[in-house]
Amino acid sequence: MIRKRISPTLSFEVFPPNSKVGTKKLIHTLDAFKELSPSFISVTCNNSTRNMENTTVHLSGYIKQELGIPSVAHLPATYLTKGRVLTILKQLDKLGVNHLLALRGDEQPTMEPCNDFKYASDLITFIKEQAPHFYISGACYPEIHPDSKSKVEDIHYLKKKTEAGCNNLISQLFFDNKIFYQFQENCALANINRPILAGIMPIVNRSQALRLFKTSGTYLPKKFLRILDRYEHHPEALRDAGLAYAVDQIVELVTQNVDGIHLYTMNNSATANYIYQTTSSLFKTQEELLSI
Ligand code: FAD
Repeated sequence: MIRKRISPTLSFEVFPPNSKVGTKKLIHTLDAFKELSPSFISVTCNNSTRNMENTTVHLSGYIKQELGIPSVAHLPATYLTKGRVLTILKQLDKLGVNHLLALRGDEQPTMEPCNDFKYASDLITFIKEQAPHFYISGACYPEIHPDSKSKVEDIHYLKKKTEAGCNNLISQLFFDNKIFYQFQENCALANINRPILAGIMPIVNRSQALRLFKTSGTYLPKKFLRILDRYEHHPEALRDAGLAYAVDQIVELVTQNVDGIHLYTMNNSATANYIYQTTSSLFKTQEELLSI
């Protein structure tokens, strides 16, 4: 469950590495995150994984039990049966993890979907029936989901998703705050009145940005492209400028009363630490500021 003390919230996202060495490194990163006391840490899940227990479930449990930080397990359901979902919910319950990001997940060309959950809203309805004590987040897309034919359709199904029982929404990353504000407005017009956490990814190298642009088609504003061009051969400056860009986005969003910032950390503790150190007072309540 999200800690109630702070609004806006500041949360982190990590992904389970593929190797034992990577997992060991992530544990060190998570231990370092404890000092930053994020509102929660979410753990992604590969949609094609058959091994969720040893990855997402295990790491979510570690965050909750060993670090005492609320954790969120991502649950993409295209390739899960209802029975498997029930088993996973029981495992999470045992570990004290009661917050999920309920997802459809991306289709894998080589795998047959189970057809128990066609859309995230089917999964949300099922969890609400079977385990109503879970707090459920849903994904949302300020630049619309690539499968949606139009913004109208995208917002229409997002509303259905919240009506199915989604408690809040976590957004896809974006680099232009204006797109996020427009999206918030569209949600308000459609009466989607759940908190929306803004997804921010600090870009710390050029290949990361270009890969993102290629795979997700995320809009990169001119100001951002100029940074990539100017510091193409100067990785240190590109990293500094990328971090400053993310901080700039966060400051503006918080000033505009965003419900929360969800930081895509890419398992990089230095990045999360920098953002935290630079912005932490923005996430304190008025009472906390007065008592400093
Ligand atoms: P849905 O909400 O089901 O929407 C998918 C598409 O179907 C949209 O175009 C929607 O408009 C449409 N739609 C919805 N309902 C209906 C309906 N009833 N009839 C017709 N059309 C409908 N993926 C992973 O595999 N693992 C992760 O850990 C992960 N984490 C993520 C975290 C965040 C914050 C975000 C934003 C995305 C994440 N994803 C992850 C990616 C996500 O799984 C994909 O974007 C996926 O393609 C859509 O998932 P969804 O839950 O948003 O789908």
